[in-house]
Order: sequence, then structure tokens, then C-alpha cells
Amino acid sequence: MNIGKPKIIAGAIGLVMLMVGANYGQFEVVEYGLRAEAAREADHWAQQFFRNTPDSENLLSTNAFSAEQLATLQETAEFGDIVKYQLYDASGKLVVDHASGSAAATGAGDEQALDVLRSGKAIASVGSPDRFLTDAQANSAASGLTFIAKVVLPIHRADGRIAGVVLAYVDQSEVRAAFRIATNTLSITLSSIFTITLGGLFIGFLVARKREGKSRQHVDFLAKYDQLSHLYNRAGFKEKLEANVASGIIDPARMVVMFVDIDHFKHINDTYGHKAGDGFLNHVGQTISKCLQAPDFAGRFGGDEFVIVAQRSDLAEAGRLAEHLQSMISTPIIVDGETISTSISIGIHFENHQSFTFDQRMHKADLALYQAKADGRNTHRFFTNELELGIARRRKVESAVLNGLNQGLFSLAYQPLLQEDSLKCIGFQALLRLVDKDGESIPPEEFIPVAESVGAIGPIGLWVLNTAAEAACAWPEPLSVSVNLSVRQFADGHLAEAVSQTLTRTGLDPRRLELEITESLLMDASIDADAQLSALRDLGVSIAMDDFGTGYSSLGYLWKYGFDKLKIDRSFVIGIEDRDVRAREILETIIVLGHRLNMVVIAEGVENKAQADILSGMSCDQFQGFLYGRPMPAEDLPGFLLKNATTRNEQGLSGESRISGPEIGQL
Ligand code: C2E
Ligand code: MG
Repeated sequence: MNIGKPKIIAGAIGLVMLMVGANYGQFEVVEYGLRAEAAREADHWAQQFFRNTPDSENLLSTNAFSAEQLATLQETAEFGDIVKYQLYDASGKLVVDHASGSAAATGAGDEQALDVLRSGKAIASVGSPDRFLTDAQANSAASGLTFIAKVVLPIHRADGRIAGVVLAYVDQSEVRAAFRIATNTLSITLSSIFTITLGGLFIGFLVARKREGKSRQHVDFLAKYDQLSHLYNRAGFKEKLEANVASGIIDPARMVVMFVDIDHFKHINDTYGHKAGDGFLNHVGQTISKCLQAPDFAGRFGGDEFVIVAQRSDLAEAGRLAEHLQSMISTPIIVDGETISTSISIGIHFENHQSFTFDQRMHKADLALYQAKADGRNTHRFFTNELELGIARRRKVESAVLNGLNQGLFSLAYQPLLQEDSLKCIGFQALLRLVDKDGESIPPEEFIPVAESVGAIGPIGLWVLNTAAEAACAWPEPLSVSVNLSVRQFADGHLAEAVSQTLTRTGLDPRRLELEITESLLMDASIDADAQLSALRDLGVSIAMDDFGTGYSSLGYLWKYGFDKLKIDRSFVIGIEDRDVRAREILETIIVLGHRLNMVVIAEGVENKAQADILSGMSCDQFQGFLYGRPMPAEDLPGFLLKNATTRNEQGLSGESRISGPEIGQL
């Protein structure tokens, strides 16, 4: 068949056009694919950036940067193929410029950013680096940069509104080069459509492979951050610290380490639920972050423990930062519809000692935190060597107190109480003793407050009550036993019940049990002292007001509660024989007052005859003191009572007294 020359020419032209068209189509498809991939990449990156940057929405609206935000910005830029980025606010003004590494001055609205803000749609274009970057930028970007995409994307808030715009330059060199190889390897004579299809598939494969690589980078990134507080986690914190010290950003000689703990965080969780608890942790993390300026930074090490590393010149500066944190965090906030307010305790380590490792500094800051908590929380404490010794001591006492009942470290000593006129023993005060496993005797003034603060005084006090009541049952009637009660023993409101059970179990006559309380009980508004004291009274036990004169010394309380006995504190008796008239007048006034209110008055700490004579002259009813007998173990009591009776007989003192004593034969 004769096709004819014109037809051949037309066919050739058609074939060339088809090939050119197919190649042009191939080029278009590749460009389209690269733009779409770059847009996806930039979008993914922007989402990560917003998820990981603390308070990112505010960053765009206020242009105020915290140290943490800046740090996250830098870190975020490191993953993904982002060569350069800029962030614009909702009015199209430049807020962050990657090139300057920090906040940039806002200028006039960027045209492309404004376009995206208006349309709400992303714009992407691709090309060689010199199309988008200056020479210096291209050189400073990753080596081998041959092809990049410029993407301008809207950033949406949680409520869907546009918060700003991100402009990112994405490195597309690798994807494009790979496609080149694909197209070169395949023959140019193959069907263009076949080439395009294969090329498309190959790009898909490469994109998937790159995604996988990025996911890994993303996981690495997340591994450094605590997702709840948006601060560093332990690993990220250490890495950052090491890097900053190595690069000289942090000077170890000026390094302040702060250990921050939320006071009673468990209570927040228990009261408001874990969701609100998480919200509160986030609030604390963000607040800490806002209080810090680079190079200071913070991390959350788990639970409610936050750690800060800061650069300060002296203790006063470090203290000011701690005070600032305390005041910011104590401001009440609303989480999940609940108004939550709490305080923080801070332990601070600051010593001009380059050689300390971070773990050593942390340990010392932790000790200071322990002290801040022991001192009532809502405060900060600095580490000192004395504090370390004090804490070691406190830990030893705490351990003895907590294990004392199980390990039999507690015992009771009994000190005699005597009638003033007859010097007859009328009973004993039970005094708690604690001897640690190493044989050290820890004084009650030291271990009782510790037992109170660790919440162990309840069971210990009950043990004292039961042991003393059992011991008193073995004594001749009507010898009484006095037991000290701590305010904390009244806290749960079940004390009268416990005393009643002790009386029933031991069979002790309630009139032989005396309970010593202090004024602090009556001043504690959280305790219903009225009801509990009258319930105790109803059991038939007597109640003594101990340490009178050392505290509030309220006449009102004495009158209101009508105690059975008033114990004058030892400090009034010490050296009374050498003191001036005024000191004696005060002592006498207290005794007169006690008598007027129908109380038996006993003086503690009588150590010599001169003191006893003065007190007798003032009509004090009873004595307790080393002059008559020191606290002694239960097995020494029969011997003491025998001696007491013998001495009285020898001195011709009668057994007559307001409270009669035991007969020797009864022992
Ligand atoms: P307190 O209840 O005022 O006990 C009297 C303290 O004065 C006892 O000290 C006693 O040994 C001491 N004392 C008595 N006469 C003299 C004296 O002539 N000279 C001197 N220098 N001291 C004298 P102790 O046994 O060391 O107890 C101290 C405090 O510890 C007690 O003061 C009490 O507040 C507390 N305590 C002791 N045992 C218990 C207990 O079982 N429960 C509670 N909650 N507190 C206890
Ligand atoms: Mg007492």
C-alpha cells in the first residue's frame, strides 16, 4: 500500500509529537508528584512542630518565646528534609525565621503567606536551589542539594481556624535523582506511558522508604520529650545538658540544679481524677517553661518531679528564680472545669564545684528538696553539707521509728510522781524510749516529732497506751499511770474508742489512767477537741494539761475544759532558787490559778531540795523530778516503791495525803 510522502511526514511528525507529548507529560507528572510529596512532607513536619512545641498557638499570636519553645524549634528543624522554614502569624507577618534561629522582628505581611491565609490552600513549587535560596543559604544547607520544593501551608488551630502559615523549603534531591535513574535505565523508546507508570511506582516506593526513615527519626525525636509536660524527659535532659556543657553554653561553675516537686500531688489525682492530674502536670511544665530563659531548661523525670538546670552567679539569684517559680505555680488554674491550686517544694544545689557530676548535683538537690518537704513544703531549700548530715540523721531516726514496733526497739520508762506533803509515790508517768539497732538511744524530743511527721505516732501511741495500762494493772492500787498523747492521735477522731478498748482489754480502773495533753491540741482548728475530750472524760479517765506555761497558756482553755491536773513545765522550775522575786511570783500565780480552777498542780523537773522547798511554800500539790526518781524500767518499780515507803517511815512522814499511796505488802 502506497502510503505517500505527506502521510509519512505527518506520521513522523505525529510520532515525534506523541513522544514529545509523552515526555512532556512524564515531566509534568514528576513535577506534580514532587510538589505533592513536598507538601505532604511540610505538612507532616508542621504538625510535629505544633505537637511538640509547648504552647505553640500562643507562640504565633504573642511572638513571645520561652527557652523550651526555642529549643523545640531547633530540634524540630533537624528532622525531616526541611532545608529552611519560616512561620507567619494569622496576619501574614513573619514570626520565626529558621535562618536566624529565633524570633524575628515582625515586618510587613508576606505576599505568599497572605495568599494562603486568604485561600486556606497550600502553594507548592519545585525547582533548583538557586531558584529559591541565596548562595549562602544553599551552601549552608545539606551537601548534595540539587532540587528543592517551596511549600506554603496554612496551620490550623484545634478549633479549625487558621493560626498562621508555615513556609518550608523541602529537599527533593534524592527523590528526583532516583527518578532520573529510573528513566535513564529504561529505554527512551519504551512507551512513555509505561515509563511514567513505572516511574510513578518507583517514586511511590522511594517515598514509602523515606517515610519509614522519617518515622524512625520521629520516634527518636519523641524519645527525648515528655509528651505530658512538653519538657525534656530524663534521657533528653541528660543529652541536652551534656551537649550544652560540652559546647560551653553551660558553665558548670555557675550551674544551678533545682529539683521541683508538686506538694500533695497525689491529693490532686485522688480528688479531681487522673485526667485533671495530667492537665495539672502539663500546666506546671508550661509554667516552668515560661519562667525560664535560654540557656536554662527543664525536664520532667516522671511523676510530679521536675528538674531545672539554670545558670546563676550566686545563691540569691538562684533563690529568686525559685521564688518566681513558686509564685507562678501557686496561682490557681482551671483544669477540666475544676479550680486547682497547690504549691511546690524546691531543692536547690549550687556549689562552685566544677568536678561534680550531674548525678551528684541531682542527689544534693534531692536532699535539699527532702529538707524543704520536712520543713512544711511550699518552700525552697539550698543544699549544704550540714543539711546532708542532718538528713542522714533524720533518715536514721525515721527508719528506727518506722521499724521500731516490729523490731521491738521501743520500751517504756516510768518516772514516779509524788505527793508534796507525804512524798508518797502516787503513780508513774510512762515515757517512751527508742534504742536503735546499733544500740544508740534516740531522745524522745528527737523521735516523737519524726514519728508525728511520718504519720507513725498513731500506732506507736496506741502501743504506749496498751503497754502502760498493762503495766499499771500489775501495780498496787491506786497507783496511777500517766500517758502523753500527741495531737496527731486525735486526728482521726477515734481516740476515745481506742482508750475504751484498752481499758476493757486490760481491766484497768479508768481512775488510774491519766492522759496528758498539750495546748496545741486545743489550738488545732482541724480537730474537734471538745467532743473528744468529753468522750474521754465520760470513760472516767483524768486529763492533765501538760507543759503549761510554755505555749499559749490560755486562761480561757483552762477554764473551759476544766482539766483534772495542771503540769507546770520544767522551764519554770529550773534555777527558781536563784531567780528573782518576779520569777517566783509567776510560778506562784500559776499554782494559785490551778487551785482556783479546781485542778491538782504538779511541778515537773524538781532536781534539788531548794526547789522542792520553794514549791512546797507555794502549796504545789505534787512533784516529779530527778530529786525523787528518774524514769526507770518497769522491773525497777517494786524496788523503788519499797525504798519510797521505807524512807518515808524513817523520816516519820505519814501516809496521809489527798491521794493515798500503796502498801508495800501489795507489791
Ligand atoms: P514530758 O511529758 O513533759 O515528760 C517529762 C520529761 O521531763 C521527761 O523527759 C522526763 O524524763 C523529764 N524530767 C522529769 N524530771 C526531770 C528532772 O528533774 N530534770 C530533768 N532534766 N528532766 C526531767 P523525756 O522522757 O525525755 O520526755 C521528753 C518528752 O517527750 C516528754 O515530755 C513528752 O513530751 C515526750 N514523750 C515522752 N514519751 C512520750 C510518749 O509516749 N508519747 C508522746 N506523745 N510523747 C512522749
Ligand atoms: Mg508530758
